[in-house]
Amino acid sequence: MTKLILVPKGDSPKIKQIIKRVNAFSKVAFLQCACGSRDMIQVTTGLLLDGGTPKGGTKQWLCASCLVKGVRSIVY
Ligand SMILES: [Zn+2]
Repeated sequence: MTKLILVPKGDSPKIKQIIKRVNAFSKVAFLQCACGSRDMIQVTTGLLLDGGTPKGGTKQWLCASCLVKGVRSIVY
């Protein structure tokens, strides 16, 4: 016969650490294109050369699979 054990209310600091870790993990997500690919290429548009050093510009993540097909799909 299995013995039932009363579990104390989850209010200990260890439980709070676990909840904090799980919540931090849930913010992580895969970048994925609408075509289903997860291969990304980062491009920078509008770079300025300031004394031989590239500065400024807008960074974007493009789908590499769509780019090969000739479609420029911005993922992020
Ligand atoms: Zn794609």
